[in-house]
Amino acid sequence: YRVKEEGKNNYQFFTKDMNEEVSRRSKIAIGLRKGLDRGEFTIHYQPQIDIKSGEIIGVEALVRWVHPHMGPISPGEFIPIAEETGTIIQLGEFVMRNACLQNKAWQDAGLPKFRVAINISSRQFSQTNLSDLVHSALTDSGLEPKYLELELTESIIQGSTSAVATMMELKAMGIHLSIDDFGTGYSSLSYLKLFPINTLKIDQYFTRNIHVDVKDAALVDTIIRMAHNLELNVIAEGVETNEQLDFLKERQCDQAQGYYFNRPLPAEDILRLYGDPAPA
Ligand code: C2E
Ligand code: CA
Ligand code: CA
Ligand code: CA
Repeated sequence: YRVKEEGKNNYQFFTKDMNEEVSRRSKIAIGLRKGLDRGEFTIHYQPQIDIKSGEIIGVEALVRWVHPHMGPISPGEFIPIAEETGTIIQLGEFVMRNACLQNKAWQDAGLPKFRVAINISSRQFSQTNLSDLVHSALTDSGLEPKYLELELTESIIQGSTSAVATMMELKAMGIHLSIDDFGTGYSSLSYLKLFPINTLKIDQYFTRNIHVDVKDAALVDTIIRMAHNLELNVIAEGVETNEQLDFLKERQCDQAQGYYFNRPLPAEDILRLYGDPAPA
Protein backbone atom coordinates (compact mmCIF):
# COMPACT_ATOMS: atom_id res chain seq x y z
CA TYR A 1 0.00 0.00 0.00
CA ARG A 2 2.78 2.38 0.94
CA VAL A 3 4.76 1.72 -2.22
CA LYS A 4 1.70 2.42 -4.26
CA GLU A 5 1.17 5.67 -2.40
CA GLU A 6 4.74 6.78 -3.03
CA GLY A 7 4.46 5.82 -6.62
CA LYS A 8 1.40 7.95 -6.93
CA ASN A 9 3.18 10.93 -5.37
CA ASN A 10 6.12 10.53 -7.70
CA TYR A 11 3.77 10.46 -10.61
CA GLN A 12 2.09 13.66 -9.47
CA PHE A 13 5.44 15.34 -8.86
CA PHE A 14 6.62 14.36 -12.30
CA THR A 15 3.54 15.68 -14.10
CA LYS A 16 3.61 18.91 -12.09
CA ASP A 17 7.18 19.55 -13.29
CA MET A 18 6.25 18.73 -16.83
CA ASN A 19 3.23 21.00 -16.70
CA GLU A 20 5.35 23.86 -15.44
CA GLU A 21 7.77 23.37 -18.27
CA VAL A 22 5.00 23.21 -20.87
CA SER A 23 3.33 26.30 -19.50
CA ARG A 24 6.61 28.27 -19.47
CA ARG A 25 7.17 27.24 -23.08
CA SER A 26 3.67 28.21 -24.15
CA LYS A 27 3.89 31.50 -22.22
CA ILE A 28 7.09 32.23 -24.12
CA ALA A 29 5.54 31.20 -27.43
CA ILE A 30 2.56 33.52 -26.90
CA GLY A 31 4.75 36.25 -25.45
CA LEU A 32 6.99 36.23 -28.51
CA ARG A 33 4.19 37.18 -30.82
CA LYS A 34 2.82 39.86 -28.49
CA GLY A 35 6.28 41.12 -27.66
CA LEU A 36 7.05 41.88 -31.27
CA ASP A 37 3.95 44.10 -31.56
CA ARG A 38 4.64 45.71 -28.20
CA GLY A 39 8.25 46.54 -29.00
CA GLU A 40 9.73 44.45 -26.17
CA PHE A 41 12.81 43.35 -28.13
CA THR A 42 16.06 45.26 -28.26
CA ILE A 43 19.43 44.50 -29.79
CA HIS A 44 22.78 44.52 -28.04
CA TYR A 45 26.05 44.68 -29.95
CA GLN A 46 29.31 42.95 -29.07
CA PRO A 47 32.53 44.36 -30.58
CA GLN A 48 34.81 42.19 -32.70
CA ILE A 49 38.44 43.25 -32.43
CA ASP A 50 41.35 42.96 -34.87
CA ILE A 51 44.00 41.26 -32.75
CA LYS A 52 47.04 42.96 -34.35
CA SER A 53 45.76 46.54 -34.42
CA GLY A 54 43.34 46.38 -31.50
CA GLU A 55 40.77 48.15 -33.64
CA ILE A 56 37.06 47.36 -33.86
CA ILE A 57 36.23 45.64 -37.17
CA GLY A 58 32.65 44.69 -36.46
CA VAL A 59 29.89 44.08 -33.93
CA GLU A 60 27.64 41.05 -33.53
CA ALA A 61 23.94 41.83 -33.11
CA LEU A 62 22.41 39.82 -30.25
CA VAL A 63 18.71 40.11 -29.54
CA ARG A 64 17.45 40.85 -26.00
CA TRP A 65 14.00 40.37 -24.49
CA VAL A 66 12.48 41.45 -21.20
CA HIS A 67 9.08 39.81 -20.80
CA PRO A 68 6.60 42.08 -18.94
CA HIS A 69 5.87 39.39 -16.28
CA MET A 70 8.61 36.79 -16.64
CA GLY A 71 11.51 39.26 -16.76
CA PRO A 72 14.61 38.85 -18.91
CA ILE A 73 14.67 35.65 -20.98
CA SER A 74 17.87 34.56 -22.70
CA PRO A 75 17.98 34.04 -26.46
CA GLY A 76 19.34 30.56 -25.74
CA GLU A 77 15.84 29.80 -24.37
CA PHE A 78 13.48 31.79 -26.62
CA ILE A 79 15.22 31.50 -30.01
CA PRO A 80 14.56 27.73 -30.29
CA ILE A 81 10.89 28.35 -29.38
CA ALA A 82 10.64 31.17 -31.93
CA GLU A 83 12.20 28.83 -34.44
CA GLU A 84 9.68 26.07 -33.71
CA THR A 85 6.63 28.33 -33.76
CA GLY A 86 7.73 30.35 -36.77
CA THR A 87 7.91 33.71 -34.94
CA ILE A 88 11.62 33.71 -35.80
CA ILE A 89 10.72 34.97 -39.28
CA GLN A 90 9.34 38.28 -37.93
CA LEU A 91 11.95 38.46 -35.17
CA GLY A 92 14.73 37.85 -37.68
CA GLU A 93 13.37 40.60 -39.91
CA PHE A 94 13.23 42.97 -36.93
CA VAL A 95 16.90 42.27 -36.11
CA MET A 96 18.04 42.56 -39.74
CA ARG A 97 16.28 45.89 -40.38
CA ASN A 98 17.23 47.48 -37.09
CA ALA A 99 20.84 46.35 -37.11
CA CYS A 100 21.34 47.81 -40.60
CA LEU A 101 19.69 51.11 -39.58
CA GLN A 102 21.83 51.20 -36.43
CA ASN A 103 25.10 50.60 -38.26
CA LYS A 104 24.26 53.38 -40.73
CA ALA A 105 23.40 55.69 -37.81
CA TRP A 106 26.81 54.99 -36.18
CA GLN A 107 28.53 55.76 -39.48
CA ASP A 108 26.56 58.99 -39.85
CA ALA A 109 27.56 59.91 -36.29
CA GLY A 110 31.21 59.69 -37.37
CA LEU A 111 32.25 56.32 -35.93
CA PRO A 112 34.91 54.37 -37.81
CA LYS A 113 33.10 52.09 -40.27
CA PHE A 114 32.73 48.45 -39.26
CA ARG A 115 30.48 45.50 -40.11
CA VAL A 116 27.36 44.45 -38.26
CA ALA A 117 27.05 40.65 -38.03
CA ILE A 118 23.60 39.08 -37.81
CA ASN A 119 22.70 35.57 -36.70
CA ILE A 120 20.53 33.79 -39.23
CA SER A 121 18.19 31.05 -38.07
CA SER A 122 17.52 27.87 -39.93
CA ARG A 123 13.95 28.76 -40.93
CA GLN A 124 15.00 32.18 -42.05
CA PHE A 125 17.58 30.62 -44.32
CA SER A 126 15.46 27.85 -45.81
CA GLN A 127 11.90 29.18 -45.79
CA THR A 128 12.18 32.81 -46.77
CA ASN A 129 13.85 34.67 -49.54
CA LEU A 130 16.78 35.91 -47.53
CA SER A 131 18.30 37.96 -50.36
CA ASP A 132 15.03 39.89 -50.72
CA LEU A 133 15.08 40.81 -47.03
CA VAL A 134 18.79 41.71 -47.13
CA HIS A 135 18.27 43.83 -50.23
CA SER A 136 15.33 45.64 -48.69
CA ALA A 137 17.10 46.21 -45.33
CA LEU A 138 20.16 47.63 -47.12
CA THR A 139 18.11 49.89 -49.41
CA ASP A 140 15.93 51.22 -46.58
CA SER A 141 18.91 51.91 -44.31
CA GLY A 142 21.37 53.10 -46.93
CA LEU A 143 24.03 50.78 -45.48
CA GLU A 144 26.64 49.53 -47.96
CA PRO A 145 26.56 45.72 -48.36
CA LYS A 146 30.20 45.34 -47.30
CA TYR A 147 29.21 46.51 -43.81
CA LEU A 148 26.76 43.65 -43.37
CA GLU A 149 27.76 40.15 -42.33
CA LEU A 150 25.55 37.09 -41.94
CA GLU A 151 26.48 34.36 -39.45
CA LEU A 152 25.36 30.91 -40.59
CA THR A 153 25.88 27.61 -38.80
CA GLU A 154 27.04 24.39 -40.38
CA SER A 155 23.69 22.70 -39.70
CA ILE A 156 21.76 25.53 -41.39
CA ILE A 157 23.83 25.24 -44.54
CA GLN A 158 23.78 21.48 -44.63
CA GLY A 159 20.05 21.29 -43.94
CA SER A 160 19.19 23.31 -47.02
CA THR A 161 19.25 21.94 -50.56
CA SER A 162 19.55 25.38 -52.14
CA ALA A 163 22.21 26.63 -49.71
CA VAL A 164 24.93 27.13 -52.32
CA ALA A 165 22.63 29.14 -54.58
CA THR A 166 21.40 31.31 -51.68
CA MET A 167 24.93 31.99 -50.49
CA MET A 168 26.15 32.79 -54.00
CA GLU A 169 23.32 35.29 -54.35
CA LEU A 170 24.19 36.97 -51.04
CA LYS A 171 27.89 36.97 -51.84
CA ALA A 172 27.22 38.58 -55.22
CA MET A 173 25.48 41.43 -53.40
CA GLY A 174 28.73 42.13 -51.56
CA ILE A 175 27.69 40.73 -48.16
CA HIS A 176 30.26 39.12 -45.85
CA LEU A 177 29.45 35.50 -44.88
CA SER A 178 30.74 33.61 -41.86
CA ILE A 179 30.35 30.17 -40.33
CA ASP A 180 29.26 30.45 -36.69
CA ASP A 181 30.18 27.88 -34.00
CA PHE A 182 32.69 26.34 -36.38
CA GLY A 183 33.66 22.78 -35.48
CA THR A 184 30.77 22.04 -33.12
CA GLY A 185 28.55 20.35 -35.72
CA TYR A 186 29.13 16.91 -37.10
CA SER A 187 29.41 18.10 -40.66
CA SER A 188 32.11 17.18 -43.11
CA LEU A 189 34.66 19.79 -44.11
CA SER A 190 33.93 19.48 -47.81
CA TYR A 191 31.38 22.30 -47.67
CA LEU A 192 34.25 24.75 -47.12
CA LYS A 193 35.18 24.14 -50.73
CA LEU A 194 31.64 24.62 -52.05
CA PHE A 195 30.40 27.66 -50.17
CA PRO A 196 31.52 31.26 -50.70
CA ILE A 197 32.55 31.90 -47.09
CA ASN A 198 34.73 34.74 -45.80
CA THR A 199 35.19 33.88 -42.13
CA LEU A 200 35.28 30.97 -39.69
CA LYS A 201 34.17 31.70 -36.13
CA ILE A 202 35.84 29.43 -33.60
CA ASP A 203 33.26 28.49 -30.98
CA GLN A 204 33.77 29.49 -27.34
CA TYR A 205 33.67 25.81 -26.46
CA PHE A 206 37.18 25.53 -27.96
CA THR A 207 38.43 28.95 -26.88
CA ARG A 208 37.57 28.41 -23.23
CA ASN A 209 40.48 26.12 -22.35
CA ILE A 210 43.12 26.87 -24.99
CA HIS A 211 45.63 28.03 -22.39
CA VAL A 212 45.25 24.95 -20.14
CA ASP A 213 44.10 22.03 -22.32
CA VAL A 214 46.64 20.83 -24.89
CA LYS A 215 43.95 19.22 -27.02
CA ASP A 216 41.86 22.37 -27.25
CA ALA A 217 45.06 24.26 -28.01
CA ALA A 218 45.88 21.83 -30.82
CA LEU A 219 42.38 22.08 -32.27
CA VAL A 220 42.33 25.88 -32.27
CA ASP A 221 45.83 26.00 -33.73
CA THR A 222 44.73 23.62 -36.50
CA ILE A 223 41.53 25.55 -37.27
CA ILE A 224 43.51 28.79 -37.60
CA ARG A 225 46.04 27.19 -39.98
CA MET A 226 43.32 25.52 -42.02
CA ALA A 227 41.39 28.78 -42.32
CA HIS A 228 44.48 30.62 -43.50
CA ASN A 229 45.40 27.86 -45.97
CA LEU A 230 41.92 28.24 -47.44
CA GLU A 231 42.39 32.02 -47.46
CA LEU A 232 39.64 32.50 -44.92
CA ASN A 233 39.53 34.98 -42.12
CA VAL A 234 39.32 33.52 -38.60
CA ILE A 235 37.77 34.95 -35.42
CA ALA A 236 37.71 33.40 -31.95
CA GLU A 237 34.65 33.96 -29.78
CA GLY A 238 34.34 33.75 -26.01
CA VAL A 239 37.73 35.33 -25.30
CA GLU A 240 37.69 36.17 -21.60
CA THR A 241 41.32 36.35 -20.49
CA ASN A 242 44.66 37.83 -21.44
CA GLU A 243 46.15 34.30 -21.59
CA GLN A 244 43.61 33.24 -24.21
CA LEU A 245 44.28 36.38 -26.23
CA ASP A 246 48.08 35.86 -26.05
CA PHE A 247 47.67 32.32 -27.35
CA LEU A 248 45.50 33.52 -30.26
CA LYS A 249 47.90 36.36 -31.06
CA GLU A 250 50.83 33.95 -31.18
CA ARG A 251 48.96 31.66 -33.58
CA GLN A 252 48.04 34.61 -35.81
CA CYS A 253 44.31 34.40 -35.27
CA ASP A 254 42.88 37.46 -37.06
CA GLN A 255 40.13 38.65 -34.72
CA ALA A 256 38.64 38.06 -31.30
CA GLN A 257 35.35 38.68 -29.54
CA GLY A 258 34.47 38.17 -25.90
CA TYR A 259 34.05 39.52 -22.38
CA TYR A 260 37.79 40.32 -22.25
CA PHE A 261 37.04 43.23 -24.61
CA ASN A 262 33.33 43.93 -24.12
CA ARG A 263 30.06 42.30 -23.19
CA PRO A 264 27.22 42.78 -25.68
CA LEU A 265 26.26 46.46 -25.25
CA PRO A 266 23.33 48.76 -26.03
CA ALA A 267 23.84 50.85 -29.19
CA GLU A 268 24.43 54.06 -27.17
CA ASP A 269 27.36 52.45 -25.36
CA ILE A 270 29.01 51.53 -28.67
CA LEU A 271 28.68 55.17 -29.73
CA ARG A 272 30.14 56.37 -26.44
CA LEU A 273 33.05 53.89 -26.47
CA TYR A 274 34.08 54.18 -30.10
CA GLY A 275 32.96 57.71 -31.01
CA ASP A 276 35.39 60.62 -31.02
CA PRO A 277 35.91 62.03 -27.57
CA ALA A 278 34.15 65.38 -27.29
CA PRO A 279 36.58 68.28 -27.80
CA ALA A 280 37.76 69.71 -24.48
P1 C2E B 1 26.04 32.79 -30.59
O1 C2E B 1 25.69 33.30 -31.93
O2 C2E B 1 27.08 31.73 -30.53
O3 C2E B 1 26.47 34.07 -29.75
C1 C2E B 1 27.50 34.10 -28.80
C2 C2E B 1 26.95 34.05 -27.37
O4 C2E B 1 28.06 34.04 -26.46
C3 C2E B 1 26.10 35.25 -26.98
O5 C2E B 1 25.12 34.77 -26.08
C4 C2E B 1 27.11 36.15 -26.26
O6 C2E B 1 26.50 37.05 -25.37
C5 C2E B 1 27.94 35.12 -25.55
N1 C2E B 1 29.31 35.58 -25.26
C6 C2E B 1 30.02 36.55 -25.88
N2 C2E B 1 31.26 36.67 -25.35
C7 C2E B 1 31.36 35.75 -24.37
C8 C2E B 1 32.40 35.38 -23.45
O7 C2E B 1 33.51 35.93 -23.44
N3 C2E B 1 32.12 34.36 -22.59
C9 C2E B 1 30.92 33.72 -22.57
N4 C2E B 1 30.73 32.75 -21.69
N5 C2E B 1 29.91 34.05 -23.42
C10 C2E B 1 30.13 35.05 -24.31
P2 C2E B 1 23.58 35.24 -26.16
O8 C2E B 1 23.51 36.69 -26.50
O9 C2E B 1 22.91 34.76 -24.92
O10 C2E B 1 23.02 34.43 -27.41
C11 C2E B 1 22.92 33.04 -27.39
C12 C2E B 1 22.60 32.49 -28.75
O11 C2E B 1 21.29 32.90 -29.16
C13 C2E B 1 23.54 32.98 -29.84
O12 C2E B 1 24.73 32.22 -29.83
C14 C2E B 1 22.69 32.76 -31.08
O13 C2E B 1 22.75 31.42 -31.49
C15 C2E B 1 21.29 33.05 -30.57
N6 C2E B 1 20.91 34.43 -30.93
C16 C2E B 1 21.13 35.61 -30.30
N7 C2E B 1 20.62 36.66 -30.98
C17 C2E B 1 20.05 36.14 -32.10
C18 C2E B 1 19.34 36.70 -33.23
O14 C2E B 1 19.15 37.93 -33.38
N8 C2E B 1 18.90 35.82 -34.19
C19 C2E B 1 19.10 34.48 -34.09
N9 C2E B 1 18.64 33.67 -35.08
N10 C2E B 1 19.78 33.92 -33.06
C20 C2E B 1 20.24 34.73 -32.08
CA1 CA C 1 26.75 34.18 -33.60
CA1 CA D 1 28.85 31.43 -31.94
CA1 CA E 1 26.66 29.25 -29.94
